[in-house]
Amino acid sequence: MATVARPSLDLDSLRREFPALQQDVNGRPLVYLDSAATAQRPRAVLEALRAFYEHDNANVHRGLYELARRATDAYEAARVTVARFLNAPSPAEVVWVRGTTEAINLVAASWGGANLRAGDEILVTVLEHHSNLVPWQLVAQRTGAVLRSVDIDDRGRLRLDQLDELLTDRTRIVAVGHASNALGTINPVREIADRAHAAGALVLVDGAQGAAHLPVDVQALGCDFYAFSGHKVGGPMGIGVLWGRRELLDAMPPYQGGGEMIARVELQQSTWAELPHKFEAGTPNVAGAVGLAAALDFWDAVGREAVQAHEDALARYALDRLRDVPGLRVLGPDSTEARTAVFSLALDGVHPHDIATILDADGIAIRAGHHCAQPLMRRLGVPATARASCFAYTTFEEIDRLAIALEAAGRIFA
Ligand code: PMP
Repeated sequence: MATVARPSLDLDSLRREFPALQQDVNGRPLVYLDSAATAQRPRAVLEALRAFYEHDNANVHRGLYELARRATDAYEAARVTVARFLNAPSPAEVVWVRGTTEAINLVAASWGGANLRAGDEILVTVLEHHSNLVPWQLVAQRTGAVLRSVDIDDRGRLRLDQLDELLTDRTRIVAVGHASNALGTINPVREIADRAHAAGALVLVDGAQGAAHLPVDVQALGCDFYAFSGHKVGGPMGIGVLWGRRELLDAMPPYQGGGEMIARVELQQSTWAELPHKFEAGTPNVAGAVGLAAALDFWDAVGREAVQAHEDALARYALDRLRDVPGLRVLGPDSTEARTAVFSLALDGVHPHDIATILDADGIAIRAGHHCAQPLMRRLGVPATARASCFAYTTFEEIDRLAIALEAAGRIFA
C-alpha cells in the first residue's frame, strides 16, 4: 500500500461535526463518496438554520420590527461573508440565487439576451456540466449566437492550444468550469481569462466544484462572473451565489420581475432597485443564505489550507491505491496534474450501475451515470462512469474500503 505524508487535519474531530456521517448503512459504517453531488452539512450549519427559524424568522427588507431587522441583518451579513470568501470588491456584487444552475441561467438570459447577436460566439468546453451548456444553448437559439467548444486531451485536460484558434473577434463570452465534476480536472482559469480578455470576450466560471475545494479569489482569477452552490460547500440546498463585476451587473436587465427588485412601479412600467436587489425578485431563501455563511465560517475555522492539503494527499493516495485494483481505470488527470479528489472509474466488464449497487451493499455511496456531462461521456467514449468523490471529511481508510470493494466487484463479474 502507498505511503503518503498525512497533513495536520484532525479528521476525527472534524468528522464528529457531521451527523450524517455517524451512521451504518447495510451493516457497515457509511462511506460517503458522493460529495461532488452534494456535501454533508456540519452541525454549525444545521444549528444556524434552526436558530434562524426559531428566533429571527421574518421576511427581509420590509418590516419595521425587531425580527424583521434581525432577519435582514443576518441575510446581509451572510452576503458580506460570501464577498469576503470570494474576495469580491463589494457585497453589492454578490447576488443570491438558488444555485449554480440558476446563476448561469441568469447570466445567459440577462447578459446574453441583451448582448448576443446572430453570429456571435459563446465558447464552452467539452468538460462542462449541463448547467454550463444548456443555458447557453437556450440563449443561442433565441439570439442566433453560436456555441463553440474547447476539447480535452487524453487525460481530460483542456486543449489550451485550441483556445487561441477558437477565440475570435466574434467570441463574446467564455463559459468554463473551475474544476470538472466528472474528471476532477482543475482548469487554469487565470490563463483562460487573460486570453479571453485579450480577445475581447468575458469569462464566466462555473465554480460548483471550485468553491468546495479550491481557493477562490475572483480578482486573482480575473473572471467576470463566478457561480457556486451552497450545498456543495456544506451549506443548505436551494441557495447559491452569482458574483459579477459591478459594471456588468449594473448594465444587465433584471432576470425575474416581482417584489424586492424594484424602485418604483407604475401600472405600465417600473424602475429597478440598486444592486444586488435588482436580481433578487421575491422572498429570498434567507435561512439558506445564513446557513451558507455558517458553512463558509465553519471551513475558515477548520482552516482552508489544511483542508486543501488533506484533499491533495487523498487524491494522490487514491490514485496510487486504485492503481492496484485489477481491471480498473481512473479517467482524468494523474496525480502529478492539477486535479481534485474526484475519480471517474471504469472497471473492465462491469457496468457503472452494477459497481454502485455492489458498493452500496457494503455501505459505500458513490454515483454512477453521465454526471450531467453527456458531451464529455461521448468524448471519452463511455456511456457512463462510476464516480467516487471526496471532501474534507474523507479518510484514507475510506479510500481503502473503496478499493477493496472495487476488487470484490471485479471478482464477482470475472
Ligand atoms: N456545475 C458543476 C460542475 C456541478 O458539479 C454542478 C452540480 N452537480 C452544477 C454545475 C450544478 O449545480 P446545482 O445543481 O447546485 O445548481
